[in-house]
Amino acid sequence: MSATKPHALVTGASRGIGAAIARALASAGFPVIINYRERREPAQEVATAIAEAGGTAELCPFDVRDAQACEAALTELLTSRTIGVIVNNAGIVRDGPFPSMEREAWESVTRTTLDGFYNVTRPLVMPMVRARWGRIINITSVSGLIGVRGQANYSAAKAGLIGATRSLAQELAKRKITVNAVAPGLIETEMIAEVQREHVLERIPARRLGRPEEVAALVRFLASDEAAYITGQVIGINGGLA
Ligand code: NDP
Repeated sequence: MSATKPHALVTGASRGIGAAIARALASAGFPVIINYRERREPAQEVATAIAEAGGTAELCPFDVRDAQACEAALTELLTSRTIGVIVNNAGIVRDGPFPSMEREAWESVTRTTLDGFYNVTRPLVMPMVRARWGRIINITSVSGLIGVRGQANYSAAKAGLIGATRSLAQELAKRKITVNAVAPGLIETEMIAEVQREHVLERIPARRLGRPEEVAALVRFLASDEAAYITGQVIGINGGLA
C-alpha cells in the first residue's frame, strides 16, 4: 500500500457492526465511505464521531440491492477516489419457519447479501486490480456455517457469500488483493433485539454476546498490510459457538 491510504467503503455502516467497522478503519488511517440505505441520522453521527477522533468520513447512501443505484454511486465515488477496501456488511434478517416463509422474506434477505455483494464489489474490482492492492471483507454469519432454525433464507445467503469469497480470493490473489469472510456469532446490535437472551447465552461457551468493536478489530486487521497472506478464509468470531 502507498503512503496515502486508499478509501474504505463499508456498506450498512450507519449502526451496529458496520458503524464499528467504519470507526475502526478510520482509526487505522483509511478515509471511510459510510453507506446506508435510509436512516441518515445515525450515519451522520458515525461520520461526526470519526471526524471528532481525527479521521475522515463521508456518507454515501444507496440500496445495495439496487444495481443501478450502486453503479451510479460507485461511478461517482471513483471519479476522485481510490477505493482499496470494501467491507460488504449490509445485511438483514426475516426469520420464520420455512413452510410459511413468504417469497418477499426469501428474496429481500438473499438479494441484500448476494446481489449486494455483486452490485458493490464488481464495479470496484478492476480499479483495485489496476492499483495492485485491495482488501475485500465479507460479513457472513455463523448461520451460514452451521445453519440456524428459522433462517433458511439467511443461512443460504450467508453460505453463498462464503462461496463467493473463496472463489474470488483465488481469482485475485496474484494481484495482491485478499478476499476474506468474517463470520460473527451473536453480536449485540439492533439486528438481534428480539432474540431471547437467556436461551442463547447457555449455548455460547463464552456465556456472553459479542461486541461490534470485537468484530471491527478483526476487520481492521484483515484490512492491514500485516494480513497480506490471509485470503480465501472464513474467520469465526463467536465465543466458541461454532
Ligand atoms: P443492523 O441491523 O444493526 O444494521 C444493518 C445495517 O445495514 C444498517 O446500517 C442498515 O442501514 C444497513 N442496510 C440494511 N439493508 C441495506 C441495504 N439494502 N442497502 C444498504 N444498507 C443496508 O445489523 P448488524 O450490525 O447486526 O449486522 C451487520 C452485518 O453483520 C450483517 O450482514 C449481519 O447479517 C451480520 N451479522 C450480524 C450478527 C449479529 O448478531 N448482529 C451475527 C452475524 C452476522 P439502514 O438502517 O439505513 O437500512
